[in-house]
Amino acid sequence: MLKISNLQVAYGGIEAVKGIDLEVPEGKIVTLIGANGAGKSTTLRAIVNLVKSKAGSITYHGDELLGLDTTKVVDKGITLVPEGRHVFPDLTVLENLKIGAYMRKDNLDEDIQRIYGLFPRLEERSWQHAGTLSGGEQQMLAVGRAMMSRPKLLMMDEPSLGLAPLIVQGIFDIIETLNKEGMTILLIEQNANMALRVADYAYVLETGKITKEGSGKELLADESIKEAYLGKS
Ligand code: ATP
Repeated sequence: MLKISNLQVAYGGIEAVKGIDLEVPEGKIVTLIGANGAGKSTTLRAIVNLVKSKAGSITYHGDELLGLDTTKVVDKGITLVPEGRHVFPDLTVLENLKIGAYMRKDNLDEDIQRIYGLFPRLEERSWQHAGTLSGGEQQMLAVGRAMMSRPKLLMMDEPSLGLAPLIVQGIFDIIETLNKEGMTILLIEQNANMALRVADYAYVLETGKITKEGSGKELLADESIKEAYLGKS
């Protein structure tokens, strides 16, 4: 579905992504794990063209994405839930959801009900300003808003960042539910433990290079991964 070949991205003279290859097959959950600053966010931003790539290729169902406007990439069915959530604090929950569908003109009620079905908490708080939601609720809203564009490929940048363990579990449950319903997911995480548990396939990124790949299960059992990323958990 998504295929990245020899992707290189630099900020000025600093090479953040140094020629990576990565594939996301349709219907799967793929995760990209790695430490702070490894280049994970940069890779996602390159896919939706929020940052310019220096070399390489990113194809989606065989079509080249590099050079396309971000809106055109979203039109193709790819949506990014950015790190830090970025909900609009002064708008209500419902208004935030509607903004996620700004490119659509059809009836949104069905989608909104579906999202409220997945996140009953958002329905209870639909008139509340997003800035007054808890961190976990804001993450639910960011995922819900991304769903409003009906993505086929949902990319999530550190959805568990700064959330309590119980809330993190809830977010990962939702990721699995969305995937079972047919959504393909590319997940970036520092919480390697959780990410590898849900992932069909995983890549490890270190200072801009892929140093290891394999099924989630394989990497969970890998001694060097355990030592570097899984801590005592
Ligand atoms: P994090 O989890 O901290 O976001 P990451 O793996 O997502 O880490 P990136 O954010 O992709 O890493 O950053 C990769 C490298 O590129 C880092 O060295 C970072 O300092 C640098 N970088 C990222 N964004 C910019 C920018 N806008 N200008 C200059 N350098 C940047």
